[in-house]
Amino acid sequence: MPPLITSIADEAAIAFDNLSDRASNLVHPTLRLGVTGLSRAGKTVFISSLVHNLLHGGRLPLFEAMRSGRVSGVTLEEQPDDAVPRFQYEDHIRALVRDRIWPDSTRAISELRLTIQYESASGWSRMFSSGKLSIDIVDYPGEWLLDLPLLQQDYRTFSANTVELARTGIRSELSTAWLEESAKIDMDAPADEMTARKLSTLFSEYLRACKADERSLSTLPPGRFLMPGDLEGSPALTFAPLPDMPDERPPSGSLRAMMERRFEAYKSVVVKPFFREHFARLDRQIVLVDALQAINRGPEAVQDLERALADVLGCFRPGTNNFLSALLRRRIDKVLVAATKADHLHHESHDRLQAVTRRLVDRAIETIGRSGAGIEVMALASVRATREANVKENGEDLPVIVGTPMAGETIGGERFDGNRSTAVFPGDLPEDPSGFFRELDDPSLHAHLPHLNILRFRPPKLEETGDGLTLSVPHIRLDRALQFLIGDRLA
Ligand code: GDP
Repeated sequence: MPPLITSIADEAAIAFDNLSDRASNLVHPTLRLGVTGLSRAGKTVFISSLVHNLLHGGRLPLFEAMRSGRVSGVTLEEQPDDAVPRFQYEDHIRALVRDRIWPDSTRAISELRLTIQYESASGWSRMFSSGKLSIDIVDYPGEWLLDLPLLQQDYRTFSANTVELARTGIRSELSTAWLEESAKIDMDAPADEMTARKLSTLFSEYLRACKADERSLSTLPPGRFLMPGDLEGSPALTFAPLPDMPDERPPSGSLRAMMERRFEAYKSVVVKPFFREHFARLDRQIVLVDALQAINRGPEAVQDLERALADVLGCFRPGTNNFLSALLRRRIDKVLVAATKADHLHHESHDRLQAVTRRLVDRAIETIGRSGAGIEVMALASVRATREANVKENGEDLPVIVGTPMAGETIGGERFDGNRSTAVFPGDLPEDPSGFFRELDDPSLHAHLPHLNILRFRPPKLEETGDGLTLSVPHIRLDRALQFLIGDRLA
């Protein structure tokens, strides 16, 4: 029998949160926009650049309300949730614009409120709308989303799934120490804190090794084992899955019983509050993916990204019989999956990156067996750190990108100091994504997969206008993303 995934109290709390959100929405229209993605996908940079461009009248030709002059003002306001850290926009933008360094990445949830004053396009709407829309941007680690499926798993299922995966492929190399230690202990012996800690540490080290491994991107729950926040060392984070558990219930007071109880605690003190207080209140969502890095790392990394996308999208497009849909009162009606850092490619490849990502998303949706309606896919760069040029090589024009590699980056043995700029031929993505996926799926064709030169560049130097004003952060297709995510709410 599936475990009871929620209690009446949870449902009532969600309903209440949504009701009070709705009531305040009537007076003051608000849109809660979730920004997520696995770590280093580009969430912090995306939000910083988006807000900077809106506040400073950036170049956003495809964002219709702005282009047509209907936006009369954009301001940052105090964010409404007192218990959630504010997204430190000012610090991040100072790093980006003044110091030309990348800001600190997302480690936990944070929030920022932006209010747009606008005039409706139609006279009818002008009569009824307040001409004001607040956007609460909620930034949270994608790793936390991967925890949601745990709500419907009991400890036995969680252990079986996790151990099975740990015994396959690359992961089997990384999980040896943890699994060997687990095999040595008697799980039905009286519970002992030091054993629990040792197993939990070895399990966390395994998760961390998966994430650090060059060949794969980790996509494994529990998410807080990698990003513990203020729960580090608490019992709810000091457990581990156990291999090959017997069928009968654990003896009371045993290590197995303790592990099971802590797993349940993880769900109730970590996963449920996140679900109830944050996830269940989102209206729209952008999922950022670093598809370029995965392509560059090789087939296993791409397959891992595909699996992670399936898990993430499963949270947003729950089918009718999915446990999440039973809990969600309001539905996220638009999801944008955006491949970030497109400035690492020449513009000819931007559409190709988009096509590869779209195919990745379609395949992910196929594995979760649900309709993909409402999911849009784009390639963008929140910050354009490069410009394009052509160089002549052997009489041929070669499209290159020019930027300042970060200190310590090397190409062909040459090491950069963080000040000198250089031209790089980034390589091409395939014109036809089907060929790419054929090569991906067939190990004998792996040698044909594209190789890209991905360097880390410093953020760009911003131009100043004649009167000393700094222009807004350059980007690629951020305006398209904005139009999709909020354009209709400013119509
Ligand atoms: P987070 O973990 O999702 O918050 O990731 P960040 O926003 O901190 O981004 C991680 C890193 O990716 C940054 O430090 C940059 O090096 C790089 N990055 C993110 N967005 C862009 C972009 O639009 N262009 C370029 N060139 N690099 C980016």
